[in-house]
Amino acid sequence: MHHNFLFDLDQTLLDFHASERKALEIIAVKNGLGFSEDVYKHFKAFNKSLWLDLEKGIITRQELFLSRFSELFEYCGGDSSGVDLLEVNNDFIRTMSVNGVLMDGALEFVKKLKNEIPLSRIYIASNGATVNAKGRIASTGLDEFIDGLFISEDMGVTKPSEDFFDICFEKIGEPKEACIMVGDSLSSDMLGAQNASIDSVWFMPSGDIEKSMKEYDIDYCASSFDELFDILKRWSGEV
Ligand SMILES: [Mg+2]
Repeated sequence: MHHNFLFDLDQTLLDFHASERKALEIIAVKNGLGFSEDVYKHFKAFNKSLWLDLEKGIITRQELFLSRFSELFEYCGGDSSGVDLLEVNNDFIRTMSVNGVLMDGALEFVKKLKNEIPLSRIYIASNGATVNAKGRIASTGLDEFIDGLFISEDMGVTKPSEDFFDICFEKIGEPKEACIMVGDSLSSDMLGAQNASIDSVWFMPSGDIEKSMKEYDIDYCASSFDELFDILKRWSGEV
């Protein structure tokens, strides 16, 4: 039996926001728009409101893709007439998918897990788009250390559903007692581990930690990769 570590991707091993910022800067410059922290903040807030509208069924996915870039042009004082905004959006998605950004120390951490815990297996368990996740993982060199990817878009189910985790266990081919979930999100990672009845590590906990640990039946908390390594090493000795 192995020690199967299921890692969430964004804000656990990779920095989603940093990739997004980088891609937006590249796209803005390419389209002759100025870029600043203020532009990024505006785009992010506007994008978020569009995703909420999409969830409510007020707009379509295509409208979201168009609106966020017509807004970007307008906010930056650019002229978007004659610009194929859907192509700009596609370019943005492509650019982001090849510009993965690691969380500080993530690569050293996974190397250490592989070297110092010989029976360790590293899996990614992430909600999101496959191309985006795979591309960012490959662009950081993280793929070299990963034994398998579980991406919601591929699977047709998302964290925190038990079905998501059942598929993971089946593919891993080992009992769930040999699996532990590591992630930053209470509502997808920790709740998912609770639904699937597996051990969990809350990475970079915040807020009322004690209350959340009880509510989500969290086993461990880690505020750095060093702490996380010690927890996983200890856990591996016990299972
Ligand atoms: Mg996350």
